[in-house]
Amino acid sequence: MAGEPQADCVFCKIVSGDIPATVVRRTDRTLTFRDINPQAPTHLLVIPRVHHPNAAELAAAEPGIAAELLVEAGAAAGDDGLESYRLIFNTGADAGQTVFHAHVHVLGGKPLTEGLV
Ligand code: AMP
Repeated sequence: MAGEPQADCVFCKIVSGDIPATVVRRTDRTLTFRDINPQAPTHLLVIPRVHHPNAAELAAAEPGIAAELLVEAGAAAGDDGLESYRLIFNTGADAGQTVFHAHVHVLGGKPLTEGLV
């Protein structure tokens, strides 16, 4: 059921503590941790504790938590000293989504001016 933990979801396992992660921020409803395969000096993932397959479905079901993802993304970027950063929501396998638990990537710490892909 939407919102319930999924046994085969790596991010649900990070939320439950069954898989370790380098967590940098936590709220009652979100978790922010470093990406295991960073694409920039700062590469963070902000996720809801509840399981939804992507950010749009999270926003439709629980808009307050979706907004909190953005607040936490900005705060986490600030914690890393970033004034400029990029937020990415991959949605669907053809867009590069590999983990089907809503998340936003926070990328920064180097120039990201050469295009989106
Ligand atoms: P996406 O391709 O948008 O679904 O992003 C999923 C991201 O999760 C990728 O950038 C992975 O490197 C990252 N990732 C997968 N497993 C872990 C993990 N155990 N800890 C931290 N990041 C992870």
